[in-house]
Amino acid sequence: MKNIGFIGLGNMGKGMAINLSSNNYNVIGYDSNPNVFNELSVENISEGKNIEDVVKQTEIIITMLPDGIAVKEVWKQIINFASENSIIIDCSTIDVKTSLEVQKNAQNKNLLTLDAPVSGGVMGANDGTLTFMIGGEEETYHKVKNLFEIMGKKNILCGSFGTGQSAKICNNMLLASTMIAVGESFKLAKNLNLDLEKLYDVLSTSSGSCWAINNYCPYKGIGPKSPSDDDFKGGFSSALMFKDLSLAISAAKETNTKINYGIQSHKKFEAIVKKEKGHFDFSYVVNES
Ligand code: NAD
Repeated sequence: MKNIGFIGLGNMGKGMAINLSSNNYNVIGYDSNPNVFNELSVENISEGKNIEDVVKQTEIIITMLPDGIAVKEVWKQIINFASENSIIIDCSTIDVKTSLEVQKNAQNKNLLTLDAPVSGGVMGANDGTLTFMIGGEEETYHKVKNLFEIMGKKNILCGSFGTGQSAKICNNMLLASTMIAVGESFKLAKNLNLDLEKLYDVLSTSSGSCWAINNYCPYKGIGPKSPSDDDFKGGFSSALMFKDLSLAISAAKETNTKINYGIQSHKKFEAIVKKEKGHFDFSYVVNES
């Protein structure tokens, strides 16, 4: 049984690690919050003492961390302890610049790297149906493609290092805009005295359909189960969406790209975070006027 190191076992990392462990991988995990292991009492997952302990037992290490600061901190240690030709895969969503920087540092120590952020949310992580957008060399990608196939339903090698992160910020900027638009559509329907169940039936099968409505309807009791059914607990936090929109805005500035919806979405998520509601799932944005 092959060993895999997994660092960052939060909302997303937990399901991903469980899927690897149930496919005959021996997962050695680490998280700065040891409580995550209370929910990980699964066969084939053990708790590493620290990052060094994880890295010394594994030749493939996956990181699933909140942001670029955490990735920098964790990769510094991984690079320090990893043996040559180990493969380090970062599945977190971070800025392209930091991703390129940490990967370069690793490559200078003869380590192989990929950026492989994901889409599909906590449900996708739990069900093994994520989409991976990958940046890096084809040879490294083929060495670990089977892991992406276990944790996801689709994986796309987008190009060289950093292109996975570029694809991810474009995706999330679009997701934020569509979720806000779904909220506006429901608000108008409500004021027109339309039955919202009927609206869902129409929208989810008409030209207005999109992932935000079909899979993640932000109204309680409507559509498949989503965080709105659980008072916006869990899921993909508004704070993380705010981070991703900040990354998109910086990238747009750096590339002189004119974006309007992205800027408006960013303002809405900024307001949620300022009201200390950033822990709510991002679909909470439909309540932000
Ligand atoms: P999370 O906050 O639930 O999990 C992150 C985990 O990393 C936490 O358990 C935390 O304790 C741990 N951690 C933080 N700093 C650490 C460090 N220095 N050393 C070790 N562990 C550390 O976040 P999440 O929702 O699982 O998201 C993880 C990443 O995936 C983010 O970059 C996010 O943008 C991205 N993402 C999330 C979703 C989603 O729906 N939640 C969807 C797609 C992508």
